[in-house]
Amino acid sequence: MKPLKFLIVSGPTREPLDPVRFLSNYSTGTMGRYLADAASKRRHRVTWVRCPDDAETAIELLALLKKEAPKHDVFIMAAAVCDVRPEKISAVKLKKDGLRGIRLVKNPDILATLARSKKRGQVFIGFGLESEAILERGYQKLVGKGLELILLQRVIAKKLPFGETAVEAYLLSPDKRYRYFPSIRKPQIAELLVREAEALKKEA
Ligand code: C5P
Repeated sequence: MKPLKFLIVSGPTREPLDPVRFLSNYSTGTMGRYLADAASKRRHRVTWVRCPDDAETAIELLALLKKEAPKHDVFIMAAAVCDVRPEKISAVKLKKDGLRGIRLVKNPDILATLARSKKRGQVFIGFGLESEAILERGYQKLVGKGLELILLQRVIAKKLPFGETAVEAYLLSPDKRYRYFPSIRKPQIAELLVREAEALKKEA
């Protein structure tokens, strides 16, 4: 098939609180590396945005992806975006009491925002991490964020399923059809998503 342009985004975003502290999560970016490898092996052109190096905060990431997303056929969003950020970043190191008073505001949903200006035929794929009601919640995310596919993983314990680990996963589409994987490793997930994206582009 004709090479496609893949935009792959992975890793944790960070929200600075002051010059020395930030909010973040345990995401490692591993999924993005496998996705980039899988798409390159299939001779696609890959832009891999690595958080927090290429974009640190959710707002920075949204600004970068607003420029990048329209240039790509397939957008796979595996980044672990911080849900909140401090209302303001302190220019000086906060005292202990200052830390207790930090006010948090919600970050924009990047996928949902970009999907609103999705071009015809573009494929948007997201990820979801759930502890329970995986398919119901996953379906709400798929629809709410305007995706063609969502890969849902079960939260197993602290830190998991981040890093190099096999996960329990579901691949769900808007017609509510899904595939269930009791234990699947990230290189396999990556290959599966690349092939699914190819199939969706052929249908489009
Ligand atoms: O809503 P939730 O965080 O569970 O959704 C996960 C999916 O949405 C992932 O693909 C993640 O990269 C994306 N996301 C986003 N912007 C956010 C939060 C999550 O694009 N602010």
